[in-house]
Amino acid sequence: LLHKSIKEKKLDVASHLAASFSHEIGNPLTATKGFIQLLSDEKISIETRNQYLKIAEQELDQAINIIDDYLTFANPAPKGKEKIWIPEAIQQGMAVLAPVAEENKVKVSTSFLENNDCFVLGERKKMEQCLIYILKNRIESMPSGGEIRITLDDDGISNVNITIQDEGIGMTQRQIDQLGEPFFTTKENGTGLGMMVAFRIIKGIGGKIEVKSVQGNGTLFHISLPKYDEKTKLIRMLS
Ligand code: ADP
Ligand code: MG
Repeated sequence: LLHKSIKEKKLDVASHLAASFSHEIGNPLTATKGFIQLLSDEKISIETRNQYLKIAEQELDQAINIIDDYLTFANPAPKGKEKIWIPEAIQQGMAVLAPVAEENKVKVSTSFLENNDCFVLGERKKMEQCLIYILKNRIESMPSGGEIRITLDDDGISNVNITIQDEGIGMTQRQIDQLGEPFFTTKENGTGLGMMVAFRIIKGIGGKIEVKSVQGNGTLFHISLPKYDEKTKLIRMLS
């Protein structure tokens, strides 16, 4: 066979990911170990000691960040699917991030009809997690504050459309192309896993995502998810 089967390709991705994962998590742990060894020297000054402790703690935080992001992605047991009301998932994600948003002087504005039927079928926790990763990046992209605008509508038949716009630093074309690749990050303490996980979740429920970004100007995601309602379910079953 000339072409690899899908299963083989999946195994390739998994082993590549495992290798990068142990590399990414090994680095901060090795660094922490080094600083702990340095700390055992009784002659170092209190300033130096505090500095080493601080670095060791930062390195451990980095390892924890990677595990947090990775474990969501690797979650092997698919939970039951449920009917998710997207406005609620957005509210929930925003509530989790409210303290970070406030600290960074970021406002979030939403615009959607109160009684919309923007329902999708999927795992609620994952959907919320996905929105959290996306919104968190937006907060981080606006170091001196700004606004995140979220709009939501259903096209009447088959899709729920979400747009999320920020006024952040934006991305170059090259960065847009790399978005979602494991460990792609431009941040000093980034993990580069958030977007990979978010994209997988969206793909997992049959959705699509379009990215538009202008450096220095902001980033727009247009996320389109298959709408869940009894009518479209029937239509899909018949076609
Ligand atoms: P992390 O946030 O840990 O860096 P992510 O996977 O969440 O990892 O994001 C990867 C990279 O994508 C970020 O480092 C950043 O360069 C870019 N990015 C994602 N969202 C945005 C955004 N809204 N504005 C600007 N850059 C973004
Ligand atoms: Mg992120």
